[in-house]
Amino acid sequence: MNVHEYQAKALFKQYGIPVPDGRLATTQAEALEAARELGGDAFVVKAQVHAGGRGKGGGVKVVKGAEAAGAAAKEILGMTLVTHQTGPEGKLVRRAWVEKATDIARELYLAVVLDRGNECYTLMASPAGGMDIEAVAAETPELIFTAQIKPGQPLWDFQARNLLFGCGVAGAGLRQGVGLLQGLARLAWEKDASLVEVNPLVVTAEGSLIALDAKINFDDSALKRHPDIAALEDPEETDPLERRAQGYGLNYIRLGGNVGTMVNGAGLAMATMDVIKMAGAEPANFLDVGGGASEEMVANGFEIILGDPNVKAILINIFGGILRCDVLASGVVGAAKKVKLNVPLVVRLEGTNVDEGRKILANSGLAFEVASSMSEAATKIAQVLKAA
Ligand code: GDP
Ligand code: MG
Repeated sequence: MNVHEYQAKALFKQYGIPVPDGRLATTQAEALEAARELGGDAFVVKAQVHAGGRGKGGGVKVVKGAEAAGAAAKEILGMTLVTHQTGPEGKLVRRAWVEKATDIARELYLAVVLDRGNECYTLMASPAGGMDIEAVAAETPELIFTAQIKPGQPLWDFQARNLLFGCGVAGAGLRQGVGLLQGLARLAWEKDASLVEVNPLVVTAEGSLIALDAKINFDDSALKRHPDIAALEDPEETDPLERRAQGYGLNYIRLGGNVGTMVNGAGLAMATMDVIKMAGAEPANFLDVGGGASEEMVANGFEIILGDPNVKAILINIFGGILRCDVLASGVVGAAKKVKLNVPLVVRLEGTNVDEGRKILANSGLAFEVASSMSEAATKIAQVLKAA
């Protein structure tokens, strides 16, 4: 689960990580009021959406004077912000964060990431902040410094100092930085974050450190032990299809392609996505209906897939184990009739009750193609798309 920058900054505060003073606004008047309350003469007005790259998309405005802060909020609120992370459809901005502007000397990068390979959190720091960290990793990997935080251990002082030295932080900033990095590590551990990112962490003109941006992603499976975090969810930011799928108990993740997939078992689902890509097409979703899915679950899954207007063809790849092929077939037929299937369908069925399943499909009057192997299914899908 992602949270907004303003929510992440409130958590930063709890962990002693310095952030600029700010207020939330949903109207121009509130933004003006917020700026007046904050005082000072320069402000930053920032669109609150679950996506990075807001600066480049026009969602971050640095202004002089409270009036200008109000005017900037007027521009930002209600806009559809398009960044490289929102997709071309963009995101509607409902809230703006108004904060005191910071005098920036240097921008650093900082992140705590769950490092599954090393069974720990890894802290990354770089003097090349404020930009695309993927580009830094690709072009100048020597500018990224890392430290592992082992389970049950803090980030040790020497580790923090090493990272800060790497970023060229010295003097008073060094002592402050050690506390900041340790706070960030503690936050990740205690709240079960999978990512805590500060881009940029700023060195001010006076040499102190302050987190100018804040992004946190939490492990969904751990939310039940963090009611305070779960309460931060913004339903407007969740994909409506993913939300509906959650309600049905389906494992569904929407992707960018146009081949809807319905598969049972996460491993088979991943493999199916691979063969679709290898055949030159792009999956529109990951959907695991589960090992023991009922006819109703299958129908729900089918309805979710068809709810995505990008879907131009559907591939069903089922290995009947606990989920029997006849149950799957009845679910598909029922759902296809209900929602009026209007895209080509390719089905590959194998396993328990496969003959009954095929018979149900054949007698249904549905138009579909049968494939006898996974690669044939993927090739057929690619052909069907090309023909359409
Ligand atoms: P993002 O584009 O979504 O990552 O949003 P950020 O919060 O990182 O802001 C983007 C950029 O705006 C930063 O890298 C800064 O260069 C600039 N910025 C943000 N806050 C301030 C500020 O207080 N003062 C100044 N001068 N620039 C700021
Ligand atoms: Mg940023």
